[in-house]
Amino acid sequence: MTERDEPLPTPMPTLPPSDPLNPRNHRSSVALARASLFKFVVLLTGVFVLGGCMLAYLARDLDRVEEVESEFYTLKAVRSLEKSLSATIKDYAFWGDSYKNLHLHVDTDWAFVRQNIGPTLYSDFGFEGLFVVNDADATVYAVTEGNLTTVDAAQWLGPSMSQILARAREGAEKETPTTAYIQVNGVPALVAAAAITPGTDPTVVPDDRAPSVLIFVTLLTDAKLAALGKDYGVGALHVATPDELGHASVLALGQDGEAGALHWIPPKPGERLLMLGLPWVCVAGLLVCLMAWAILRRTTASAKSLDDSYASLQRSQIALATSEARFRDVVEASSDWVWEIDDQGRFTYLSERFEAVTGLSRDGWAGASMDDLLGTEMGTVSQWLAIPDRKPEISIQCRYADARGQARITRLSARQMKGAGFRGTATDVTEEVEARRRIEFLSQHDALTGLPNRVRLQEFLDGKLKATPTAQHPLVMLSLDLDRFKPVNDLLGHAAGDTVLNEVSRRLSDCVRHGDLVARVGGDEFVLILTDVEGPEEVEALCQRLIGSIEHPVLLNEQEVFVSASIGIAMAPTDAREAAELLRYADIALYEAKASGRSTWRFYAGDMNARIIERRRLESDLRFAIKHGELRLHFQPRYRIADGHMVGAEALVRWQHPVRGLIAPDTFIPIAEETGLIIPLSDWVIATACSQAATWPAHLFVSINLSPAEFKRGQVSLRVQKILEASGLEPSRVELEITEGVMLEDAAGALEVMRSLKRLGVRIAMDDFGTGYSSLSYLRTFPFDGLKIDRSFLTRLGESEDDQSIVKAIIGLGRALSLTVTAEGIETAEHLALLKAVACDEGQGYYLSKPLNMSDFTSLLGQGSPVDSDC
Ligand code: C2E
Ligand code: CA
Ligand code: CA
Repeated sequence: MTERDEPLPTPMPTLPPSDPLNPRNHRSSVALARASLFKFVVLLTGVFVLGGCMLAYLARDLDRVEEVESEFYTLKAVRSLEKSLSATIKDYAFWGDSYKNLHLHVDTDWAFVRQNIGPTLYSDFGFEGLFVVNDADATVYAVTEGNLTTVDAAQWLGPSMSQILARAREGAEKETPTTAYIQVNGVPALVAAAAITPGTDPTVVPDDRAPSVLIFVTLLTDAKLAALGKDYGVGALHVATPDELGHASVLALGQDGEAGALHWIPPKPGERLLMLGLPWVCVAGLLVCLMAWAILRRTTASAKSLDDSYASLQRSQIALATSEARFRDVVEASSDWVWEIDDQGRFTYLSERFEAVTGLSRDGWAGASMDDLLGTEMGTVSQWLAIPDRKPEISIQCRYADARGQARITRLSARQMKGAGFRGTATDVTEEVEARRRIEFLSQHDALTGLPNRVRLQEFLDGKLKATPTAQHPLVMLSLDLDRFKPVNDLLGHAAGDTVLNEVSRRLSDCVRHGDLVARVGGDEFVLILTDVEGPEEVEALCQRLIGSIEHPVLLNEQEVFVSASIGIAMAPTDAREAAELLRYADIALYEAKASGRSTWRFYAGDMNARIIERRRLESDLRFAIKHGELRLHFQPRYRIADGHMVGAEALVRWQHPVRGLIAPDTFIPIAEETGLIIPLSDWVIATACSQAATWPAHLFVSINLSPAEFKRGQVSLRVQKILEASGLEPSRVELEITEGVMLEDAAGALEVMRSLKRLGVRIAMDDFGTGYSSLSYLRTFPFDGLKIDRSFLTRLGESEDDQSIVKAIIGLGRALSLTVTAEGIETAEHLALLKAVACDEGQGYYLSKPLNMSDFTSLLGQGSPVDSDC
């Protein structure tokens, strides 16, 4: 994790307790507004309640006043009623005519018919009862409800009549009537009574009797009372119902209210006032409440916004402090450095990190031009900054030299400042760029040797082919494959193999020119691309150099390792123009080079393809041949050199092709090895050789060649055992020839197989000794019975002394190891003489006998030994 990746420390800045911005010193405006509004509402409610109370009090007072007033008027009305009744009765009672016609004698006609005191009093004044009671208190004249009746006044007036009569008579002298309230049939009534006197009439002579009394009764009916009330402004004056008694606005009539009571409904201005005023007060109160609520809302909102703005102010203060702290931390903690330049491109600010990252002095660079420090691949930084509409988020990679003069890479980002100039950061990306380069390199190169890999090769090839090479300046591709590399790996271990590959890679790279490419495309496969080549001669010279260089022994822990190489060559544009085609053709050429004996090179030729196709055909033909008996076995006799006696014969296979004729083993054995046909082929050879040898004289052995490919597949000894048993041949009469290749491929496995073969009782000889590694240690370690000196030594035997001494040395070695030494390829008498001179054990060759077909060999056996005489 780099410094930059760590989380940045961003401590929360704290404010001093005295700071008004400190939240502890701040009471929210909302709370404040709410508190004051609450007080206001309480006050307002008080005012309204008080107002309401006062209004109620006022209304009550008003009502009380009205009540008193109405009582007064009711009383006044009643009094006036009494007065008017008194006045009326006065007119009728204190009148001489009444005295004459109702007291002295009762004249109903005068009174009723002539309507002096008759029904009109009822119809005009509403007096329901008119009575005249004489001195004996008997009712002498009675008119009720306008009708003349015989009703006794006592019936109407009840028990209070006597009292009324008495008071009326008392007032006779002063001519004052009396009034009283009574109940007549449950209805209150006002009674006026007056003693009948002659009045001021001088013609009337009074008698001595007690005066008769005139009584007027007016029933206080509701209609009369209502009319009365109306006259006096008393509302709804009526006789009080029992329910209304005991309440206000009641006027008792008579003594203790025995006559009943009056009741009225006084006007209630207070109540009206309340009814009218209270709703308004309520409405006003409601409005005030609404207003208060609205005000509360507004003030709360504004207080809240005040609070919010206060809080946001506080937050922004804190954020500012935080961002400052963060900026400081970032600037100091990150590996980036921060810069500012003026409009002239000179540094006006460099952060502290500048020194830590670059090792350069801040003071030294203050005021210096940015272009002097940093350079880009496309020009100066100033030019980059001046690009119109340059996107600020796009950064640029710059190079600079640090304090130690070492090249470093930094990623620069820049933003235009408000005034003039720029500001930005510089991130050191040297390691990142290097790592990326490394990854890129690794993805395109082989990890072991560091050579370009197939990916890079493809890229390089594509590039070069795009440049369209010409016949004069062709593009040459060499496909190079190491020979005998696999045994190195298997025998000496992978570490040794790696060393050899590295060494080979180095040597290959040394052989080519700058601009050429050497790529490793497989285990021991390389591809070389050469661009500046004059012609095929130059290519051949290079191939020679390459193989020569590779064939130099590689020293591995004081052991010399030999490898070689085969090379296939293809050229553009003559052979192909496409990369894939070119690679394929170079591979075909390589195959051809390998097929023609390795350690050599081949140019791709148009017919190579045809040859490959040919080979494929041969392969299928061989399959057929093995099954259908097209194989033939020839025998080449081997002789003891000392006495010229035949000791045995080597079985050599041929293929009697129906079209091509007799084909040599060198042509088809490699195909058989590659395709696995070697097993059935070899089985046939061993079986045929053994069955033939079984017919030979008992002193002759048969020598059979085994391919290294057979050893790999195993089961060799088992196969040999079975075939031997089937043929009935003595195992001691069988010799198996194997080459070094067997041991090179898998030494331990080979030893195992050879030991089991030895257990069968067969002999084993090393074939072609001296061509490969010819490691002497093999001869010691492996259970060989004999060795065959390769015929190449004999062909050179006459020419070089060296070869003579080598042959001599091999024979000496063989003898020392108790091996039978056989010389192959004896072509002349000279060869034979020489071998005889160095006491070589056995020999075979054209000079002695060519390989013979079976019948020829059988007839040879019949002839007896032809060379006996020669040796
Ligand atoms: P090799 O085992 O070295 O066999 C001897 C080869 O040398 C034979 O070639 C033989 O014809 C040839 N030769 C013998 N005397 C002379 C001479 O004086 N001068 C010259 N120049 N050549 C001589 P051939 O039969 O063509 O066999 C070639 C190779 O094929 C053999 O080499 C052997 O490695 C392989 N081969 C032949 N038959 C078999 C077989 O049945 N099985 C296996 N696995 N390989 C076989
Ligand atoms: Ca052989
Ligand atoms: Ca041989």
